[in-house]
Amino acid sequence: MNTVHEFEIGPTTRMECKVCWYVYDPVAGDEEWQVPPGVPFHELPEHWTCPLCGASKDQFLIIQE
Ligand SMILES: [Zn+2]
Repeated sequence: MNTVHEFEIGPTTRMECKVCWYVYDPVAGDEEWQVPPGVPFHELPEHWTCPLCGASKDQFLIIQE
């Protein structure tokens, strides 16, 4: 079980959608939602959803480096 806690999510932590495997990379930001590069996952707006499948933020898993 891979529970996401905000304190585990660092400024460069990449997050993967468990529905469609889209990866949010803070270094790149998200063009779909006009999120500029450098925004950590936990600072994305509450209404942010996966740009590919529309899954909510709690559907994302931490990618362990
Ligand atoms: Zn997705």
